[in-house]
Amino acid sequence: MISISMRTLLWLKRLMPEVRWTMWQNRFCSDSSIQRLESNSSIRKHLISKITATGPISVAEYMREALTNPVAGYYVKNDMLGAGGDFITSPEISQIFGELLGVWCVSEWMAAGKSNMFQLVELGPGRGSLASDILRVFSQLKTVLGETDISVHLVEVSPKLSQFQAECLTGDNTQPSDGDQPVYRSGTTRTGLPIYWYRRIEDIPRGFSVFLAHEFFDAIPIHKFQRTEKGWREVMVDIDPESPDKLRFVVSHSPTLASSILIQKDENRQHVEVCPEGGVIVQKLANRIAEDGGAALIVDYGHDGTKTDTFRGFKGHQLHNVLDAPGMADLTADVDFSYLRKMTGTEVTCLGPITQRSFLKNMGIDSRLQVLLRNCPDPSTRAQLVHSYDMLINPDKMGHRFQFFSVLNRGRLAQYRGMQKNTAPLPVAGFAELDIQ
Ligand code: SAH
Repeated sequence: MISISMRTLLWLKRLMPEVRWTMWQNRFCSDSSIQRLESNSSIRKHLISKITATGPISVAEYMREALTNPVAGYYVKNDMLGAGGDFITSPEISQIFGELLGVWCVSEWMAAGKSNMFQLVELGPGRGSLASDILRVFSQLKTVLGETDISVHLVEVSPKLSQFQAECLTGDNTQPSDGDQPVYRSGTTRTGLPIYWYRRIEDIPRGFSVFLAHEFFDAIPIHKFQRTEKGWREVMVDIDPESPDKLRFVVSHSPTLASSILIQKDENRQHVEVCPEGGVIVQKLANRIAEDGGAALIVDYGHDGTKTDTFRGFKGHQLHNVLDAPGMADLTADVDFSYLRKMTGTEVTCLGPITQRSFLKNMGIDSRLQVLLRNCPDPSTRAQLVHSYDMLINPDKMGHRFQFFSVLNRGRLAQYRGMQKNTAPLPVAGFAELDIQ
């Protein structure tokens, strides 16, 4: 255990001691407001005709259309990240976040036996900042990674964001593929690695992979259910009879297929949100990790099967009514980690969720900050570094709100389980404290 901790610390010292120059560049405003208005009216009209023709739709269908409708969905059309967008995420706030996750990826690759091929897979990479910081770490740790055949695989539904990712990670050194190929874009990263874009996880080649999903699962559609005197009923989206161009929530009169199969027998909450598509995705990751080796790190806001009504919208960093202007606002729901854990099955081991504060502290965020501060003479950049560190780990900011959850191959902890039960810290970076004297 200690050797992993010490090694991680040494790596942190070896990382580039400078501040990433693009750090604050990402915060500039986007020019997507006109497209947003078009998206709004076209998605609303489309949903109203659909409901008029076939009746109320599930919240999951509403969320899917609003976020990923191939013509006018929120993620398909907009650049929503940063100060000029609707929300800002940890990788956009500080380079340290991605650097520590890069160290985690290398640490897991080593602990799993240094496979001679290593696929870095990111689900929903946004602007590509996280992958970019991780790839910089891989370059710094070239001697550790040796001749390993490393490749980068991005699962991204948004053509617009895939362009940002291509620019950020390759300097636009990519080629689009013809037609409906599983790989819709490919190229070479600035650090010389092959990189591929897909729409679906199943299209990624098999082999040892580390999967990352940062603020991805909260964007996957949820169903909402309510306990009634007649049993569980699904919450649906319908046209408001008083105002036919508006939408409203209704409770289904009879059970739906979803309400019949998605509610647990021992459920004791009154309202429940379930994300079956997220369950299928995590099941696919777990199957691959069990068969091909590797690990997954899922980072999101969430709970362990306790919360009830978390479905909400964000627009311009403010809460936004979820049924107003579909396609114009981000829609999100807290991730139910207990459900993800259940869906991974018995062939893998899950760790967490633990808070972002604990994970980053365990990964040595304090030492990394000190290295950057020591090498940064500019007072305003120093102040920004300290401010972004505080945003990431302060319990009242992102420190307790965000959770880290990992899926590992069962073999990864076999030795630990057999020999040192309950006495030693987990030998998995981030999930146990670093020994940093
Ligand atoms: N991980 C980034 C972006 C989070 S926003 C960050 O933390 O900064 C959610 C990301 O997931 C976007 O890139 C969005 O386009 C992508 N996305 C949302 N739904 C998706 C789906 N069903 N399949 C693939 N990508 C999806």
